[in-house]
Amino acid sequence: MTSVAAYAAPAAKAPLERTTIERRPVGENDVRIEIAYAGICHSDIHQVNEGWGEAIFPMVPGHEIAGVVAEVGPGVTRYAVGDRVGVGCFVGSCRTCEFCRRGLEQYCTSGMIGTYNALDENGDPTYGGYSEQIVVDEAYVLRIPDALPLDAAAPLLCAGITTYSPLRYWGAGPGKRVAVVGMGGLGHMGVQLARAMGAEVTVLSQSLRKKDDGLRLGAGRYFATSDPETFTELAGAFDIVLSTVSAPLDMSAYLGLLKTDGVLANVGAPEEPVSVNLFALMGGRKKIAGSLIGGIAETQEMLDFCGEHGITAEIELIRADEVNTAYDRVASSDVRFRFVIDTATI
Ligand code: NAP
Ligand code: ZN
Ligand code: ZN
Repeated sequence: MTSVAAYAAPAAKAPLERTTIERRPVGENDVRIEIAYAGICHSDIHQVNEGWGEAIFPMVPGHEIAGVVAEVGPGVTRYAVGDRVGVGCFVGSCRTCEFCRRGLEQYCTSGMIGTYNALDENGDPTYGGYSEQIVVDEAYVLRIPDALPLDAAAPLLCAGITTYSPLRYWGAGPGKRVAVVGMGGLGHMGVQLARAMGAEVTVLSQSLRKKDDGLRLGAGRYFATSDPETFTELAGAFDIVLSTVSAPLDMSAYLGLLKTDGVLANVGAPEEPVSVNLFALMGGRKKIAGSLIGGIAETQEMLDFCGEHGITAEIELIRADEVNTAYDRVASSDVRFRFVIDTATI
């Protein structure tokens, strides 16, 4: 075992503090990664707060990991020391179920093994990216294109793939109108990705505060959802509404923005259930669909797509001891657009 420094929440809702964790020795198919950067996803905050249910503590969050390979096991074939790599939301799955075989490991019937707040095959807790190093089976490691800086690429491992996957699945592309709801970490990736896929993009944000950024990142239009007029003006306007909002929303109101046969693709993960007026679905044969991150193959496809199109997250790089302040700012929608921890400061 190797002792490495990390930032952990010792208990639910407690501030994160510096600590030491053990990483397993590098096994046959493992890669030891020297972590350089770790993005802060709103999911980290939901889990530290036990907003999604009982969690495992101490918790070292972080599933937007970018770094460099420092050691490889004897059976590793895809990676070598010095490679620029990433790790996303999961570090294991059964590999044999229908979904694992289809490259949809995130929907593994036995449950994927989360990068943190989970138990690994041996029943030991997993610890995430707010740490100096991580040891991961190469099957769950991604390659970060040379064209992308590691710090701004880190958020692609969750915010990038979480928006890329439903946009691809629901056919965002030329001739399609996409609305992105919530201009945060996920939302600002969704805007860039949908635009690069060729869709016409509109942002629906609580206010017009981030309008300039939204237009610069590729949106053609930008509306405030605090203005009731928005819902009248945009009625029936979209093929896809991608909601990235971390709080409960009035889904029926957003369904009104869809064309017939349109889809409200939801990736936001609020802590409370939402209710829907089913008449808002029936009228135009509309759909509400969920989507969870993306599989390994699609995550690599997304990274390569971002490499080709020069897409990264807009980040605010912070020291590890600023993490609790960053959590407060994310919780109050005060981030442009992703905090990334420089793990050298742990
Ligand atoms: P974030 O950076 O905090 O962005 C969320 C955005 O939602 C905010 O910037 C804000 O946008 C909007 N918002 C927040 N509170 C709101 C409210 N009360 N009413 C209306 N809009 C509100 O968070 P994130 O990291 O992008 O994550 C967003 C959500 O997706 C979280 O719940 C997270 O857990 C979830 N998530 C899901 C997956 C998945 O696989 N499905 C993956 C990652 C994250 P404006 O300021 O523009 O209004
Ligand atoms: Zn995430
Ligand atoms: Zn499986």
